[in-house]
Amino acid sequence: MICTNCFEAEYNSAKTELTVTVNGESHVLIDLDCETCPACGEVTFTHAQSLEIDKKRIALEFGLKPLLTAVQLKILRHFLGMKLDEICDLLHIGRNTYGRWERGEVEITPSMNLLVHNLIEKVPDASVNVLEMARIPVIEKTNAGLLGSHISLGEYIREVIAAARLVPEIVCLSIGMEPGELVRIENNDLQPEKIPCELTAKIALYFRIPFDALARLLNETLKVLTMKSAVSAVHARSTCYDAKGAGIQASSVNKILEKLAQKKGAEQGQTQVSDDYLAKVKAELERLQGTEE
Ligand SMILES: [Zn+2]
Repeated sequence: MICTNCFEAEYNSAKTELTVTVNGESHVLIDLDCETCPACGEVTFTHAQSLEIDKKRIALEFGLKPLLTAVQLKILRHFLGMKLDEICDLLHIGRNTYGRWERGEVEITPSMNLLVHNLIEKVPDASVNVLEMARIPVIEKTNAGLLGSHISLGEYIREVIAAARLVPEIVCLSIGMEPGELVRIENNDLQPEKIPCELTAKIALYFRIPFDALARLLNETLKVLTMKSAVSAVHARSTCYDAKGAGIQASSVNKILEKLAQKKGAEQGQTQVSDDYLAKVKAELERLQGTEE
């Protein structure tokens, strides 16, 4: 075939590279078949060669997105607040397909995986709630600011959820706890040692809390709780009867106590969470980390 640029020579088959942009990042595709003109240097692709390049680009795009797990797909659907048939309609897939993915009966196909990843990217706050790889950097950044200060486990959880824009129901679903349980922990209504060791460990794992910081959070909770029982009379005289009002009040009482606990902090001969409990939590943490890998 004669060169359509200079009309001086026939094209020769050769190899070339191309830079493609996938998700805003540049990637180089190498070893691509092409045609070049020995006279003017023009590079061109036959139809078949172009198709091969498209295939490589699409494979790259698929390969860059980790396959969504059954759990992630379930969390995503709950995050979107959709029923199984609704999300199937949204994705234009068979009525039973999403359910099968969620139950782990079949793996999501690479092309659907890409489509669902695109959906996650388009919905505000979806990635941080659904994908660990998106959540970890946000949580670790928040932890850097929070974990150094005197703060109870409850107040820490409330703040990190707000700062990372996590949805409490989704946090509960991911950790495997009841929403009511989360509220009680957030309000420091639970004696730290009454939180099951496994749950404490799961919370620490989810929020990437190092063990020594976890011990400090639990001790701070204990301090707040001790004070709270001292001022329970104030609490009892509350005139808020509806659940929402009570929740807001519990939260603000909690904040006041938190401040008091911070002030009294060091000087008080303080009660500590038992070594026994902490050792059990540590064992749970190690067990969970072992199953995670
Ligand atoms: Zn030419």
